Amino acid sequence: MITKFLGHVFSGRIFKARQPKTIPFGVHGVARERVSRCALTVTQTLQRHEFAAFVVGGAVRDLLLGRKPKDYDVATDATPEEVRRIFRRSRIIGRRFRIVHVMCGPETVEVSTFRGGDAAEDDEARKSDEHGRILRDNVFGNQEQDATRRDFTLNALFYDPASQEIWDYHDGVSDLRKRRLRMIGDPEKRYREDPVRLLRAVRLAASRGLEIEARSRKPIRSLAHLLASVPPSRLFDEMLKLLLSGHAVECVTKLRKEGLHHGVLPLLDVILEQPLGERFVMLALKTTDERIQADKSVSPAFLFAALLWHEVLAAWKNIEASGIPTIPALYQAMEQVTQVQAEKLAIPRRFGSDMKEIWALQPRLLQRAGHRPYRLLEHVRFRAGYDFLLLRCESGEVEPAIAEWWTRFQRVGEAERQQMLVRDSEPKKRRRRRRRRKDEGGRMKEEGGGRKEKEE
Ligand code: ATP
Ligand code: MG
Repeated sequence: MITKFLGHVFSGRIFKARQPKTIPFGVHGVARERVSRCALTVTQTLQRHEFAAFVVGGAVRDLLLGRKPKDYDVATDATPEEVRRIFRRSRIIGRRFRIVHVMCGPETVEVSTFRGGDAAEDDEARKSDEHGRILRDNVFGNQEQDATRRDFTLNALFYDPASQEIWDYHDGVSDLRKRRLRMIGDPEKRYREDPVRLLRAVRLAASRGLEIEARSRKPIRSLAHLLASVPPSRLFDEMLKLLLSGHAVECVTKLRKEGLHHGVLPLLDVILEQPLGERFVMLALKTTDERIQADKSVSPAFLFAALLWHEVLAAWKNIEASGIPTIPALYQAMEQVTQVQAEKLAIPRRFGSDMKEIWALQPRLLQRAGHRPYRLLEHVRFRAGYDFLLLRCESGEVEPAIAEWWTRFQRVGEAERQQMLVRDSEPKKRRRRRRRRKDEGGRMKEEGGGRKEKEE
């Protein structure tokens, strides 16, 4: 009993907090039926156990904007352990702040306990570095504090599916109506606490068609350097969100406009600072945006393969110039680029092998004789390799006729395919090439009676 009472005190349930504006359904118009099944179940179940539970953050913002939320967060006054006990299919995760993932079918909802804000600044549990960046903030708080520690006013709205009311502590609904992105509290201090908010401001403004309010916009350029103190993996996650927002072109253009490039974001430098590849990269982003907007799947590995392609091309050319034959030179170039760039950009390893497969298919797609095109059609990454080739053609790097050939080859029947195959003096050429490579000490494998070049 006493423990439960103390729990209530610490979770802020009995503190007298500032009253929020409560906005009824009749005014905001978001019906509970629009909330995902899992988020509904989670809030209803927690409320049945007499806890407060609201859909919160980006999902409420997107519902108000008439968009389908990507993911749902629920905020509650139950502790992670209490949540964990209520939902059989759930687990506690996170080191920085412990949250609970509750699973229903294929959907996962993130449930977090109301978190404290400035009041706990001197607390052991809330530590910051010399720039003001918060390193640890694992203190529970009440609902008002939870609203206040969020970044923008329109990200701090709580929706109660039971009453269909929105609880608004910072005039987020009014800002949303005005399409205004406004930081809660002192913008400079809030960016210093967590410089990733600089990127979030730009991403949200560009992807949701919002205007960053003047006071929130002013410090962005001068604080850009703080991004250097953010762990690369966190920057990567945020950049990935930005690139997969369906508005990557607008986001990247806005990042440049706000001065968040030039050595601040390594990934952005790759996108914006390549004289030869910019057209190709922007095309890749545009295609990704179109696919996402059409609700088609996109592969991050494909996107990163595109972002780094011109680096690979440059390295490939250099290595070839040093006398290494074409295909081994490409493999060396791929290795070099993935080691240097992927590490610098913190691209997860799992993307690396897919990227390499897409790159390695490129010279193979130029060969259109004999059985090779048939073998390529069977390749697991054929589709990605072919899409990549289309981009290369569209950007002017490769003859459009080659992409047209592949498009047709996939569509037509066997008889026509046979007609299409490029007849060349391949065996003779191959023999000559092999002899040359052998003289140059190129990497080749002897297999059985014949030789097989290391091209696949
Ligand atoms: P999206 O899901 O479209 O990327 P989002 O705003 O929902 O946007 P999430 O990362 O899902 O972003 O975060 C959920 C909520 O958590 C946000 O709406 C905001 O209230 C809060 N939040 C996220 N990141 C921060 C941050 N860096 N500082 C303060 N609050 C944050
Ligand atoms: Mg979200």
